[in-house]
Amino acid sequence: MSVAISSRYSGLTPYVPGEQPRDVSRLIKLNTNESPFPPPEAVQKAAYTASQSLNLYNDTEARALSERFASHVGVSPGEVLATNGSDEILYFAYLAFGDDASPMAYPDISYGFYPVYADICRVPGRAIPLREDFTLDYRDYMGIDANVVIANPNAPTGIALPVEDIERIVRSNPNRLVLIDEAYVDFGGVSCVPLIKKYDNLLVTRTFSKSYSLAGARLGFGIACEELMGKLRAVKNSINPYNVNAMTQAAGLAALESKEYYQEMVAEVSAIRDETASRLRALGYRVLPSSTNFLFFGQGPVNGAALMGELRERGVLVRYFGGERTKDFVRMSMGTRKQMDEVVSHIREICEGRRG
Ligand SMILES: *Cc1c(COP(=O)(O)O)cnc(C)c1O
Repeated sequence: MSVAISSRYSGLTPYVPGEQPRDVSRLIKLNTNESPFPPPEAVQKAAYTASQSLNLYNDTEARALSERFASHVGVSPGEVLATNGSDEILYFAYLAFGDDASPMAYPDISYGFYPVYADICRVPGRAIPLREDFTLDYRDYMGIDANVVIANPNAPTGIALPVEDIERIVRSNPNRLVLIDEAYVDFGGVSCVPLIKKYDNLLVTRTFSKSYSLAGARLGFGIACEELMGKLRAVKNSINPYNVNAMTQAAGLAALESKEYYQEMVAEVSAIRDETASRLRALGYRVLPSSTNFLFFGQGPVNGAALMGELRERGVLVRYFGGERTKDFVRMSMGTRKQMDEVVSHIREICEGRRG
């Protein structure tokens, strides 16, 4: 006999993260949109200092960090909630606001966790197709009978949606949650955080995993009006009041105080992205316009699964999504300049091999 999984969860299809190999020293890892740069020393030291008090429980409300983050995004501390990665705030939002009468609607090509959370929270999910060119038509979400979840800029496409379009969606759904996932906004998107002052149905999420080089620390935030936040806080305190550990709180606070380091890093990554996009286009690839730290490209000499496989053999990891509309593309995070020089050379050789 074995213990059967609850019938509620017997049909789960879990999220499949990008491969995290044990030994990355000989690989160029461009498959999960991490930063190729470590956090600054001040952040490392802050985490270490906090580690000396790990005998004590951490601050359940992450007050110092939350106050600093609130001022960073121009809202008040009651309008933010710190979470264990931004995945956790997504999960809380599904739990708090989803049910049979309030399904979750999201683009058909977007972050893989959106349908997975619908599943585990037993909330109906609805995938709304992006246009042929992978852009989002805001009219598909106007006055919709569902909560809305949109990543802006979107992943894996990298394409950003104008804030005016978001405002139209938010305004036309006053009794529905509109969640805007701004995981990549620092790399070139425009934030809709200011709109939370005007609309009580808007929840914006942020992560420290990409533009703050803290993927392994697990830190994210929700930003919304106090009333909405109160509901999310109640869910959080019913699951895990201590959700952001002491080292991560200290690291996050130090990160917010290392503004210059991150401005330079984000500028560097964005420049590398634009150069890499031109080089891929020169090789004959279609590269979607990216406002993120990754490129989504394909429909060139060698594509999709074949390109991913050949790069893998050369020690380069990229992400492949085998969907009907995404099978001729791969998603590639930006590495350092030196890494990208190497990767573009590999891709050139792979393309020439195919032609020759
Ligand atoms: C990476 C990513 C996240 C989640 O990041 P966390 O590491 O959980 O903070 C959320 N949304 C999108 C679109 C992402 O790409």
